[in-house]
This record gives sequence, structure tokens and C-alpha cells, in this order.
Amino acid sequence: MKEKVYVIDTSGFIVGVQFNDGDMVTVPGVVDEIIDSTSRLRFDLMYDAGLKVEPPLGTFKEQVVSAAASTGDAGVLSKTDIEVLAKALELAQNSKVIFITDDYAVQNVASCLELEFKPAGSSGITKKIVWELRCTGCGIVVNYGSECQICGSAIRRRRARH
Ligand SMILES: [Zn+2]
Repeated sequence: MKEKVYVIDTSGFIVGVQFNDGDMVTVPGVVDEIIDSTSRLRFDLMYDAGLKVEPPLGTFKEQVVSAAASTGDAGVLSKTDIEVLAKALELAQNSKVIFITDDYAVQNVASCLELEFKPAGSSGITKKIVWELRCTGCGIVVNYGSECQICGSAIRRRRARH
């Protein structure tokens, strides 16, 4: 049986997730995006629990970029989104990867790459959102407002994918 690995993007630290039945991995770009103190505390706790922070290999980044181009998501994926997808793809070569993300564009590219994913929050399962308001700085999705309460960047409306 393959070893289970959870690859966690920024939303996992905003919502707060914890897994005891497998390794937890994220990428340096995600760590840079964790700026509010609650998410930082969650990160520290998970790091103490064995969370690994590793950059992906370049070849897998190229695969992610071409998959994103084919799904039409290339324009909305951030450098960090590409990194974390590439890391999931890299680890999936030898492990059973479960990719934790609330980002619809990232989920879309993940399915194109045949990666198994789960949302960090329950909203992705129970509620269909046509549009979402997302911070252009930290990437958090909010219900209202034009300025992020966490990092102060502008909030933009964007289309949510299913
Ligand atoms: Zn923000």
C-alpha cells in the first residue's frame, strides 16, 4: 500500500486542518502567504507535528503549467498555486496524494492532472458558489468587502469553478 501524503495549500492553514494518518507537505510559497497570526499558529503546530516544507521539482511545474493552459486556468493560477500543484504531482509518483485546497481553479487543474483533492472547508462540498470574492494578496475568500481584513489588499470578484 502506498504511503498517504496530504499536500496542503494556503486555504488549509486559513481553515485549519489536521491529519494523523499520513505525511503533511506544503511548499515555501504557501508559507510566505500565511501572514495572519491564527494561520501562522496553525502552521507552527502542524510544523511541530511533522509538516514538511519542500519546493517542487521544475519538471512537474512545467506539467502543471501546460495542464493549466489546457483548462483555461493559466491566467488565474498564482506562482504558489503552480508550486503546490507541482509538489502534489511530484509526490503522486510514489505516494497516495490527497490535495487539500479550497481554490476552484486549483481544484480544476488538479482534476485535469488526475490528482485527488479535498476542500479544506466544508463549503466546497455543501454549497455551490458561482462567484467568489477573493483577496488579491493572501488569496483568502471572503463574503463581502472590497479590502481584505487580513492583509489589506484589494478584494476581487472572480468566477468560481465546479
Ligand atoms: Zn488578504
